[in-house]
Amino acid sequence: MEKVVIKDSSYRLKKATILQAKKLTAQEKFFEIALRDGSTLDHEPGQFIMISLLGIGESPISVCSSPTKRDSFDLCIRAVGKVTRSLHALKAGDEIGIRGPYGKGFPVSILAGNDLLIVAGGLGIAPLRSLIMFVLDNRRDFGKVHILFGCKEPKEMLFRDELGHWSKRTDLHYACTVDRADPDWAGNVGVITTLIPGVDIEPSRTFAAVVGPPVMYNFVIKELLKKGIPERQILLSFERNMACGNGKCGHCQIQNLYVCQDGPVFNYEQIKNLSEAF
Ligand SMILES: Cc1cc2nc3c(=O)[nH]c(=O)nc-3n(C[C@H](O)[C@H](O)[C@H](O)COP(=O)(O)OP(=O)(O)OC[C@H]3O[C@@H](n4cnc5c(N)ncnc54)[C@H](O)[C@@H]3O)c2cc1C
Repeated sequence: MEKVVIKDSSYRLKKATILQAKKLTAQEKFFEIALRDGSTLDHEPGQFIMISLLGIGESPISVCSSPTKRDSFDLCIRAVGKVTRSLHALKAGDEIGIRGPYGKGFPVSILAGNDLLIVAGGLGIAPLRSLIMFVLDNRRDFGKVHILFGCKEPKEMLFRDELGHWSKRTDLHYACTVDRADPDWAGNVGVITTLIPGVDIEPSRTFAAVVGPPVMYNFVIKELLKKGIPERQILLSFERNMACGNGKCGHCQIQNLYVCQDGPVFNYEQIKNLSEAF
């Protein structure tokens, strides 16, 4: 049989070691990972990698640490099926394969010098944590930073310690809400859109970065447009089932766009007329 030679290096599988695996909630685990050859992942905030488990499969997962963290990178993974449940069973010292980073993330060089309104729903905090950490590590390069976070219930809150830390910083405006409170919850109750009207922004110099469950997008976009933020300054990250991660297989195609290659981060102006996008 003829030997198949893959010439495209972007498909190359790299060996990686789990340094730390930690439970965040009943459904999500945090993983700190290092490439076995000692190299740096070199991702942009908002990009994703393909995680590969031999004999099980591959899954796209957003990198949730900042590129300023050089020796290792972080992932936050919700156990939903075959690959992600198998990942949850792994521990420090175990090996996995990764491909990437892939896709277009948040355009940090365009965001620099502007104000940011970061809107994270549930697991959407994972890719946005990469952007937030990057901004905090380069704080003087950015104007005002607002972080809005929402989840269904307090027990689903990811990165609780970091959210607590951000809420105390004087160089950030942070607000958080839950859909349903528990007896210990003393904060806001309501969906994330209820936080947007109260945010004091200058729309012309504000970029919004939004990641959350699909149901959130239409409502959040409506509120951001009401605030006067221009369409091209509303940045949204999309999740689609994908296989190659490299614009070849077409699984993640939305009309003429490939989420894996043209996204996952798009500006609203780019995708507002694509009926399949929302
Ligand atoms: C760009 C991108 C970034 C992502 N980042 C993260 C992340 O940071 N953390 C995280 O936990 N998850 C993330 N996901 C979702 C993750 O890829 C899927 O949950 C995972 O591939 C499911 O694989 P599985 O084998 O565990 O589940 P399967 O056994 O394949 O399926 C279980 C269920 O999940 C659904 N599903 C499968 N693939 C996807 C998908 N890509 N998106 C949504 N639902 C899916 C299936 O339809 C099925 O209902 C991301 C997805 C994309 C496209």
